[in-house]
Order: sequence, then C-alpha cells, then structure tokens
Amino acid sequence: MKQKIFTLQKIYKEGVAALTEAGIAEAALDAWYLLEYVTNISRASYYGDPERELTEGQVRQYRDCIARRKSRIPLQHITGEQEFMGYSFYVNEHVLIPRQDTEVLVEEAIKVVRAGTPGMKVLDMCTGSGCILLSLLKLCPGTVGTGCDISEDALKVAKRNSERLEVAAEFVQSNLFEHIEEKYQLIVSNPPYIRTAVIEELQEEVRFHDPRIALDGREDGLYFYRKIIKEGKRYLEDGGFLMFEIGHDQGSDVSYLMGESGYKDIKVKKDLAGLDRVVTGMYNKR
Ligand code: GLN
Repeated sequence: MKQKIFTLQKIYKEGVAALTEAGIAEAALDAWYLLEYVTNISRASYYGDPERELTEGQVRQYRDCIARRKSRIPLQHITGEQEFMGYSFYVNEHVLIPRQDTEVLVEEAIKVVRAGTPGMKVLDMCTGSGCILLSLLKLCPGTVGTGCDISEDALKVAKRNSERLEVAAEFVQSNLFEHIEEKYQLIVSNPPYIRTAVIEELQEEVRFHDPRIALDGREDGLYFYRKIIKEGKRYLEDGGFLMFEIGHDQGSDVSYLMGESGYKDIKVKKDLAGLDRVVTGMYNKR
C-alpha cells in the first residue's frame, strides 16, 4: 500500500485550519512555531522547498502538538520555551510564562544596577522561571543574584534556566522573606497581582495553565505588594531600591503603599503600550 505523502506546506495548512477552526487567536503563527518545533525548519528553508516531505513520525508529532494547542494548552508548554530579553527560557506548567511586559522591569533594574556600585546584590522575590533575575545577571555581569519562590517546582525550573543560560545565581525556597537572611541593594519582584474575581475573566490558556499561585493577588490584588513593601525594608540596605511590576491600574495604589511605608523617590514607569507597569522606590532609614 502506498503511504500518504505529507509535505511541509500541506501539514502546515492543515495545522492553520485546525487552529483557526478552534478559535485560537494567532492560529497561523502558532501553527508555524509548532512546525518549526517539530521539523527544526527555518522560514527561509520552508519557502525554499515547501514540497519537502515530513517523516511519518513528524506528521504524528505535529498533529499531536496541534491537538494539544487546540485544547488551549499554551504554545510555550508544548515547545517548552519562551524568549525573554533575547534569551530562551525553559518553561512548564509550574511557572508563569514570561511576559514581554516584564521586560520593562528588567530594563529599569538594569539602570539601577549600572548606576550602583559594582558587585551589587539583587533579590528577585517570586522568581518563577527566573526570567527577571537571570536576564538581569546576564546583562549586568558581576552582579550577585538570589531568586526566591514558595514553589519547589518553580525553583527547579529557575535552576534549570540558570544552567541553560550559564549564569550563576542562588535560589532559596521561601514563603516571601521567611528564609531570607541577608540584605540587598535591590529587590525586584513581579508578584501575583491579579484580583481573584478577575482571574475567571482571563483567557483559558492563562486561567487553566499558568499556575494559579503565580496570578492570584487575593481580593484587591495588592496582598503581595503590601507584604513585600512592609517586610522588604528589613532586607534592603540603606539607600536600596525596591522595584515592582504592577498591573496597569495599580500605579497609584502601590506608590501610595510605598510612600506610607517610608520609601522615597517613588517613580512609576510605563510600558510600550503607555500603561503603568513598574514602580520603584528607595528605602533610606535616615
Ligand atoms: N518572576 C516571574 C515572572 O515575572 C514569575 C512571576 C509570578 O509568578 N508572578 O515571570
């Protein structure tokens, strides 16, 4: 019996159609990334020879990937990676998938680190995949970094990423500052900040596949900011900075909380969409 032949183009079109029908927003793009994942092919070589045949195994694997994506499993959980700050991070269901918005936090942190003394000590509170800390350490060599998270499973991912990116960092399992002992010149954090009631309105990929504990900021979304602002003072060197990613409508609340706790020079930085995204303050005991 003659085998059915599947060319790159044929299977790609099948993937696009299946994802479009399932209502996946970026159907063509996701179908492409999955094809790239399964065949390792580049855009250029695809267009050079769209009639190239896939092996039977590749066809099976591609269809399996498409079926998983149809069921709203995020693309990044299928391919196991997400790019952030130009680096490729390993991700799985135990960590929040790094978001482009969070790059604003890293860019602001880089400014603080470069303006400070060499060998600065940085703590990343709620490190997740480690994307914030590790990209900061990559871009600011000589910086000393600690990442902390309540989740052992998340820390396994963060450690794997530190090996993948070949950058040294310390990781501590800790419920906020519970097991943190030292002081830092900079604390960065992208804590869970979504109001519990709002989580139900998020798209399925986020609602069902990003870890709930990485999203849920409790009733008013500010639970972790309050705790980190208050407790963080004990872990900041004199003149050290606390820097948060925030939701677009949390700029004034988080600034207020920091001011009330005695932080100075509080600044809100907007993201590329023009929305409030990062709040920074300095803690100075004098
Ligand atoms: N720090 C990680 C990130 O920004 C995880 C954040 C979180 O779990 N809320 O991707």
